[in-house]
Amino acid sequence: MNSKHDTCGGARVAVIGAGIGGAAVAALMQRAGYKVTVYEQYERFAPAGGGIHLSPNLMRVLRHLDVHRHVLLKGQEPCAFLNRDGTSGEMLFALSLGESAHRQFGAPFVAVRRGELHTALMSAVTPGSVRWAKRLAGIDWGGETIVLGFDDGSRVECDAVIAADGLRSSVRGALRGREQPVFSGQVAFRGSYPREDLRGLAVDDLTKWWDAERFVLSYWLDRARRDFYFAAMMPQASWSTEASSMPADPDEMRHAFRDFHPDVKRMLAHAPRAGVAKWALFERPPHFEFGTSRIVLIGDACHPMRPFMSQGAAMALEDAVMLTRALVGAGDFEPAFRSFAQARRKRLTQVHRVSAANTFMRGETDARWVFGYDALGAQASPRLPALRTMPAWAMAA
Ligand SMILES: Cc1cc2nc3c(=O)[nH]c(=O)nc-3n(C[C@H](O)[C@H](O)[C@H](O)COP(=O)(O)OP(=O)(O)OC[C@H]3O[C@@H](n4cnc5c(N)ncnc54)[C@H](O)[C@@H]3O)c2cc1C
Repeated sequence: MNSKHDTCGGARVAVIGAGIGGAAVAALMQRAGYKVTVYEQYERFAPAGGGIHLSPNLMRVLRHLDVHRHVLLKGQEPCAFLNRDGTSGEMLFALSLGESAHRQFGAPFVAVRRGELHTALMSAVTPGSVRWAKRLAGIDWGGETIVLGFDDGSRVECDAVIAADGLRSSVRGALRGREQPVFSGQVAFRGSYPREDLRGLAVDDLTKWWDAERFVLSYWLDRARRDFYFAAMMPQASWSTEASSMPADPDEMRHAFRDFHPDVKRMLAHAPRAGVAKWALFERPPHFEFGTSRIVLIGDACHPMRPFMSQGAAMALEDAVMLTRALVGAGDFEPAFRSFAQARRKRLTQVHRVSAANTFMRGETDARWVFGYDALGAQASPRLPALRTMPAWAMAA
């Protein structure tokens, strides 16, 4: 009974945060036979309305979890990703998607409301394994077991912690001190409105309008193309609050993009007075914090990046897969967490760098290195077992 998987199979794993990475890693590890409990600060999940791109590398993970149909049903599969000059409208680069995404990258490209991605992921988590309204306040890893303290006064013991608690991770804070993420000097106005409010303006499925320092990204949020979404990014000298977003005056946004192409100006002109929010974009330098021998960080807790490649959630899901592969391979936390960090560093560094440069698809681009990546089976150094070919014992509930 001392085989590797028995050791970990009986161990108590706590995941902090039931966001995108937390839900994914819990579902994957539960399928691999681990006893996982998720602790989330909020009382319940409130679906947020903003849009998100589910690139093929992310969709492969949803398909592995058998929850891809939900987002395919709710979201839209754009025919193409158009990149245009922000002022002249000249086509800089058009990437065929739709059927072509399946052929080129092995999975679809979907745009959807962020809440639908979360709903899909949560449906894969074992019912009853999420503890809501549990805000982590402290963590003590000095003893034989790890003790988690929550701000309702409760305490829980566990054997390993996966921190998926996002941009302002309190686990990261406990390990490293409260070094805050850095304001990138960029903000994004985001909003959505119904098709009728476009007042006859013809819009493509998915377009990014570029200039040197700003861009406007727009797409449909649903299959029926009823709700339209935009994100308009521009520089801003400072951000004075801890909150990531605040309600915005659409006139400020319209003024900032007044020199853009007439179609963009018409699109932004229709944005509702209420419902536009301004988001500060935060990041950390790419010195990733992967954790310690029994605590590991994934997603934004480990590597928040500028959202210019729309890859933050995709990286959290790839992390979840690689961590599960590492655990299945090693059977014990310390070597698994080390292998995970080693296996992820190169790819995260590359995506972080290209996101920060904001050059992805600005001109002719081979997107295969991003969208064609298959975390489930990709060669990793050190070698990790592919998830598709997990041994039967590893699939036991
Ligand atoms: C403007 C913008 C647009 C974006 N667009 C895209 C896109 O199109 N595609 C894409 O792939 N990515 C996109 N991203 C990035 C993506 O949203 C993030 O990278 C992703 O959500 C990270 O997932 P996560 O699980 O690490 O963190 P989150 O999804 O933020 O989850 C963290 C969870 O931890 C919980 N939590 C936090 N602290 C505690 C605590 N102390 N105790 C208990 N629970 C706690 C939170 O409540 C939350 O549920 C975008 C980001 C921004 C800002």
